[in-house]
Amino acid sequence: MFILHCTNAAGESVRLRYDPHASALTNQDGSPVLAGKAEPGRPPPFEDAVRVSPSQPGTKRTDPVVLKIQLGLGCNYSCSYCNQASQVDSMALTRTADAQSFLNDLDNWLEGAPDQIEFWGGEPLLYFRKLQVLVPELDRRSPDAEFSMVTNGSLLTQEIVDFIAAYDIRITLSHDGPGQHVRGADPFDDPQRFGFIRALWTERKPRQRMIFSSVLTPENCDPTAMRQWFARKLDDEDVVTSFEGVVATHDDRALAGPGIWSSEQYERLRTSVAKSFETGEALRMPALLERARNFLKFIEQGTPSSSMGQKCGMDRSDHLAVDLHSNVLTCQNTGATSKHGLGSALRMEEVQLDTSTHWAYREHCSHCPVLQLCGGSCMYLDGDQFAQSCENEFQFGLGILDGVMRRAFGLKLERIEGDVRRPVMRKTIAIAAVH
Ligand code: SF4
Ligand code: SF4
Repeated sequence: MFILHCTNAAGESVRLRYDPHASALTNQDGSPVLAGKAEPGRPPPFEDAVRVSPSQPGTKRTDPVVLKIQLGLGCNYSCSYCNQASQVDSMALTRTADAQSFLNDLDNWLEGAPDQIEFWGGEPLLYFRKLQVLVPELDRRSPDAEFSMVTNGSLLTQEIVDFIAAYDIRITLSHDGPGQHVRGADPFDDPQRFGFIRALWTERKPRQRMIFSSVLTPENCDPTAMRQWFARKLDDEDVVTSFEGVVATHDDRALAGPGIWSSEQYERLRTSVAKSFETGEALRMPALLERARNFLKFIEQGTPSSSMGQKCGMDRSDHLAVDLHSNVLTCQNTGATSKHGLGSALRMEEVQLDTSTHWAYREHCSHCPVLQLCGGSCMYLDGDQFAQSCENEFQFGLGILDGVMRRAFGLKLERIEGDVRRPVMRKTIAIAAVH
């Protein structure tokens, strides 16, 4: 249980009680802040989430709801905080011909049709020839499945734009707007590349099948500034921007720079996220809107934290990531020749998700006031990589929590009282070998 110390518009102090495990937000006298929608005496049925850990591995199903196909981890960019960089050497190399054998293998393991099929790189458009083999056939086999792809947009051509339109692929164009310099060359600066991005946006926008998505980094943490950057570039006030999230630290390179924030930068992140709710900008950004909506829905319904899985869903048995050799992966960002290769989809009964840790097994998550907004950060990180990623998520979560308080209740979150436990970064001391 936490006490949220807030102030109202008149500057008076208001205290609310918040229990993230019961999703209970109450006034000091115990009365609920939001009236629940559940029928009295008949709470909605909440299924417990499966809690995976190395000693209690998760399983994967042959009839996934979400199928993520990793085409390869190659990329034409080298973003300083890339969450795949440490995995590139461990991907199992695949050729265009493997796309056909992957389809042949599907006949031997895939049951039913996934609701969602995602095509992942690296940069997926580096693998356009593979896409040309996979997409038409998967469309024939699963005509109702939603196709989607995250791309940096720098390799678009008219042929690719037409292909995306023909198969109605939902596009997330990953670009950091005003903070793109930490990722490399900006395709918006190249007239030809920008022309294809604009053409794709013009084609996809009416069907609501494209968004521009950024990563929040220390130097680029204002959602409003990001949205306005895209609006200016595309000359479109209604441009849809969102977030892949706040930067995580998946390797030493990210821990040495782009994943580390100063206290001033954290303050700027929290304040600009909270303000974006006040101004309404946040409501135009799916990643912020969905988190806020889910948070309020959880409170209305009293959703227990025991029903909460990990934020990305890859702990679930019905979310499956595979490469073109039908290797099952912890997630689409990992390589099959590392510990993240979990076995073959052709022998799904042997596959064990033993690389990851559900938030419930992390002390800090169980004592975290933004658990419902975070979902436990990346499930396979540990040590300093987890500690730093957690801190970044924590500060982002505080900004959203403050923003929801401001928008929904007219309260400004000043501080949180309670048994908040935070992970501590290990101090490492280099030891020279002595001969
Ligand atoms: S912010 Fe950190 S402690 Fe809180 S839920 Fe996320 S990962 Fe867990
Ligand atoms: S396990 Fe989930 S959060 Fe971690 S890198 Fe993979 S998709 Fe991202």
